Amino acid sequence: MAFEGLADRLQNTIQKIKGKGKVTEQDVKEMTREVRLALLEADVNFKVVKDFIKKVKERAVGEEVMESLTPGQQVIKIVKEELSGLMGGDESKIAVADRPPTVIMMVGLQGAGKTTTTGKLANLLRKKYNRKPMLVAADIYRPAAIDQLETLGKQLNMPVYSAGTDTSPVDIANQAMVKAKEEHLDYVLIDTAGRLHIDGDLMEELIQIKNNVNPDEIFLVVDAMTGQDAVNVAESFNEQLDVSGVILTKLDGDTRGGAALSIKAVTDKPIKFAGMGEKLDQLEVFHPERMASRILG
Ligand code: GDP
Repeated sequence: MAFEGLADRLQNTIQKIKGKGKVTEQDVKEMTREVRLALLEADVNFKVVKDFIKKVKERAVGEEVMESLTPGQQVIKIVKEELSGLMGGDESKIAVADRPPTVIMMVGLQGAGKTTTTGKLANLLRKKYNRKPMLVAADIYRPAAIDQLETLGKQLNMPVYSAGTDTSPVDIANQAMVKAKEEHLDYVLIDTAGRLHIDGDLMEELIQIKNNVNPDEIFLVVDAMTGQDAVNVAESFNEQLDVSGVILTKLDGDTRGGAALSIKAVTDKPIKFAGMGEKLDQLEVFHPERMASRILG
């Protein structure tokens, strides 16, 4: 898919201003209109765009732009600053419980990349922080999901706790906690069930697990390619579970990544990591500035 970069989009207005030698409010309006289109094309949620543009406009009609010799660049600078400010969070720190194990609950829709990301995160915890994680297979509705996690555990040479499909996810989580304590493991990563769509039963189950194991982190895994849908998904999961952070997957794809901005704006939860491929070492710290440039082109 070909996108037009913001700098190109602003060219027309900039040429006009050059001819006049002065920036007017009308020019600023035209420039922010281009910014608006760029964001909508990047699949940022409509309402999020509206609020964002209002802020940019307020700054842009100030002296910063009106008095500038390079108003186009000035507008781009403001937009980038505001964008990365909006997406910035408290970096990609991961909680550490006072008494181990630290519990991380992984939630998200089926296909978002939850199981893969659980493996990636465990890999990162071991590699970067020298921690000993355990993976927990709590998706009892899909035997394939349990197999997938066990395969991941083998690849990573890491313990996986599973109890088949007949034990409730809450019991599985509780049993895994006991086991992790016995074995002096530092992290328990619970791979919970996902569905194709959000439904009440799933949320109820996740709430029960949450109330039982009292996780230190709840990471919502969202597919960056899903654009607008990602916003609704993030909103519901966050409303029900009060997640602690978001992990955006499939950013190696050709999406502009507008979902990142929307999700952050709607949930106000930090985007912690970005999935950059199917391999287990392809999980990166989320960089707001890079994402801002990517969204704008
Ligand atoms: P789950 O149903 O949410 O547990 O999703 P899975 O972990 O099974 O992932 C679904 C598909 O997405 C698999 O084919 C993964 O390899 C793929 N996947 C997950 N994360 C990424 C990513 O960051 N980039 C790419 N390209 N593929 C990913």
